[in-house]
Amino acid sequence: MNIILLGPPGAGKGTQAKRLERDYGIPQLATGDMLRAAVASGSELGQQAKKVMDAGELMPDELMVQMIEDRISHDDCKNGFILDGFPRTTAQAEALDAMLQKRGTALDHVIELKVDEEALVDRITGRYSCANCGAGYHDRYQPPKRDGVCDDCGGTEFKRRPDDNEETVRSRMQAYRDQTAPILPHYEQQEKLKRVDGMADIDAVTTQIKRILDGKA
Ligand code: ADP
Ligand code: ADP
Ligand code: ZN
Repeated sequence: MNIILLGPPGAGKGTQAKRLERDYGIPQLATGDMLRAAVASGSELGQQAKKVMDAGELMPDELMVQMIEDRISHDDCKNGFILDGFPRTTAQAEALDAMLQKRGTALDHVIELKVDEEALVDRITGRYSCANCGAGYHDRYQPPKRDGVCDDCGGTEFKRRPDDNEETVRSRMQAYRDQTAPILPHYEQQEKLKRVDGMADIDAVTTQIKRILDGKA
C-alpha cells in the first residue's frame, strides 16, 4: 500500500506515520528527517539544507525527487510506503506519479490532515523528540508517561528542531499555502484524496485514517 500523508507543518503527519508504520509494516519516508540526517552528517547537501530549512523555504524539486526515487527502490519499500513531507510541490507530485508508473505501481491513498493555523503554531512551538530514538512528544498534548523519560526507549535526553520557532513556522505555512496546497486538486482529480479532521485528538485521528486504509470510509 502506497500512501501520502499531506498537511501543513505540525498537522500530525509524523505522529500518524509512525503509528501506521508500526501497524501496517510499511516504512515512513520522511524527507524532513532525511534532510536533518544530512545536516547532522555535515555533507554538502546538509549545509544547503540547513540554510533552506532555517529560512522556512523549500529545497529544490530535483534534489527531493532524486532522494525519494533512491529511497523507494530499497527492499523495505516492496510492500509500500508512507510518504511524510513529500510531495510538497506540483512538480514533485508529477514526478512521483511518473516514477511509480515506471515501477508498475501507483498511489493508493492521499490523506489530508486538516488543522487550523493557530493550532499548528501551538503544536510546533511545543514539539520535541527523544534524542536517542526520535519518538515525538509535545509539551502539553503528548508528554511522556514518566516526566523526562522516553516511553519508547527510556532515554532522558530530548531535542527541539531549530526551525520550530514562531517566525520560521510562519514562512513554512506560507510555503505550504503557496506551493503545497495547490497539489490537492491534482489528487482530487485522481479521486485519491481523503480528508481527515486533524483537530481531533491523536488516537481519534489514527482511527479515522485506519478506516480509510482498511476500506471502511
Ligand atoms: P514539518 O513536519 O514541520 O512539515 P518537515 O520535517 O517535513 O517539516 O520538513 C522540514 C523542512 O525540510 C521543510 O521546511 C523544508 O525546508 C524541507 N523539506 C522537507 N521535505 C521537503 C520537500 N519534499 N521538498 C522541499 N523541501 C522539503
Ligand atoms: P508534522 O509531522 O505534520 O509536522 P507532528 O506529527 O510532528 O507534525 O506533530 C506536531 C506536534 O503536535 C507534535 O509535538 C505532536 O506531539 C503534536 N500532535 C500531533 N498530532 C496531534 C493531535 N491530533 N492533537 C494534539 N497534538 C498533536
Ligand atoms: Zn526514545
